[in-house]
Amino acid sequence: DGTERPSEPGTPPPASPRSQPPEEEEDEDFQFLLCEGCGQDSAQPRLLGCLHTLCPGCLSDTKQCPLCRAAAGAPAVENLLFCNLRSRLHLWRQIRSACGPGCSRCRAEAALVWCADCEEFFCGRCFEEHQWWHKKRQHRCHRLEELRAGSVRQFLEDTKTAGSLYCSSASHVGESRVCSIYCPRCERALCCPCALLDTAHAPFRDLRAESLRRQDELRSLRRDLRRLRGSFEAALARLRGEAARREEQRRRLRDGVRASAERLQQLVRREAEELQALLEARPERGPSALAEELSGAEGALLRLEAAERLVERLGRYGGEQELMDMQPFVRGALLELRRLRPPAPAPLREPAHFALCRARLRAL
Ligand SMILES: [Zn+2]
Ligand SMILES: [Zn+2]
Ligand SMILES: [Zn+2]
Ligand SMILES: [Zn+2]
Ligand SMILES: [Zn+2]
Ligand SMILES: [Zn+2]
Repeated sequence: DGTERPSEPGTPPPASPRSQPPEEEEDEDFQFLLCEGCGQDSAQPRLLGCLHTLCPGCLSDTKQCPLCRAAAGAPAVENLLFCNLRSRLHLWRQIRSACGPGCSRCRAEAALVWCADCEEFFCGRCFEEHQWWHKKRQHRCHRLEELRAGSVRQFLEDTKTAGSLYCSSASHVGESRVCSIYCPRCERALCCPCALLDTAHAPFRDLRAESLRRQDELRSLRRDLRRLRGSFEAALARLRGEAARREEQRRRLRDGVRASAERLQQLVRREAEELQALLEARPERGPSALAEELSGAEGALLRLEAAERLVERLGRYGGEQELMDMQPFVRGALLELRRLRPPAPAPLREPAHFALCRARLRAL
C-alpha cells in the first residue's frame, strides 16, 4: 500500500526510540531563539555585529546594542540559523501535536510522511504520487511515526543535513541544481555545469572541503576567543576588586573625617568654656594699677569740685569774720590741691591672663 516504508537515501536509519524529555526541557533548551532584548518570539531575528540577536522591534530605534552597549557597526543581518531552527522546531511541534499534521497536498487526510526535500507532509495517497513524480530523484522521506518515536534532538540532527545548497546562478533560474563545488574567487557555491562554464575562476574547491575548512577556522577562532575571554574575566575580577577596595577606602576616610570633626568640636567647646571661665571667674589678687588710678582720679575731681564750690560760696555769702577765721585753713587746702596732677596717658600694662587667653585663642 501507499504507506510502505519510504526510502531514505543520505540519512542514517533512525536511532532506536529514546525516552522523550519532558516538554518543559524542550522549551527551556530553545529559549535562546527568543529575542534577547524583549524575550518575544520573532520570525525575523536579526544578528548584530556584537553577535547578539534581537527582534526587529528591539533593533528599530537604537544606535547601539541594548545588551552589551556595543555601537552598531555593520548593519544587522538575518540570523539564518535561528530562522531555520525556529521553523524546524515548528515542524517538530506539528509532528508531535495531538492530532498530527494534515497532508500538505490534498489538505484532507492526516499526513503519514514528511519529505525533507519538498518540505511537505503527505498522506498515503499523495505520497504515492510524490514517489511517482520523483522516481528519478530520490527524496529524503521520513515516516511520521518514526520521527515521533525519536527525540527532538534526533529530529533536529536529521533535518540539519536535509536542505541541500542549490546553485543560485541566473543561467538556470527555476531549476534546483545541487551545488558540490566552491569558487574561492566569487566566494560562492556552484553546481557542476556552472563550474565547467566558469573556466576563468578555476581552480575550484570541493564544497565539502570548503565547508570543513570554514568549520575548522571557526573552531580555532573560538579557541582563541575563549582564551581572550579568560583574560577578560581575570581583568574584570581585578577591576571589581579594585572598585570594592576603593569603596572601602572611601568609607573608612568618611568615617575618619566625621570622627575627627566630632573630636575637634568637643575640643573647641571645652577650650572656649575654659577660656571664658579664665576671664570671668579669675579671682582678683588686690586692686589692679588701673583700678587704683581710676579711683584716684575720681577722688581728685570730687575734691576740686568741692573746693570750687566752697570758695565761690565764701565769696558770695561770707563776711569779714568768716574770711579772717577760715582763710588760712582753706588756703592751705587749696595749695595742697594745686599740687595735684592728672594721670599721664602712659600705656598700662595688660593683665597677664589676657595674654595667656589670647595665645590660647590663636593656638585654637
Ligand atoms: Zn525584541
Ligand atoms: Zn550586543
Ligand atoms: Zn494527501
Ligand atoms: Zn519530496
Ligand atoms: Zn567564480
Ligand atoms: Zn548552477
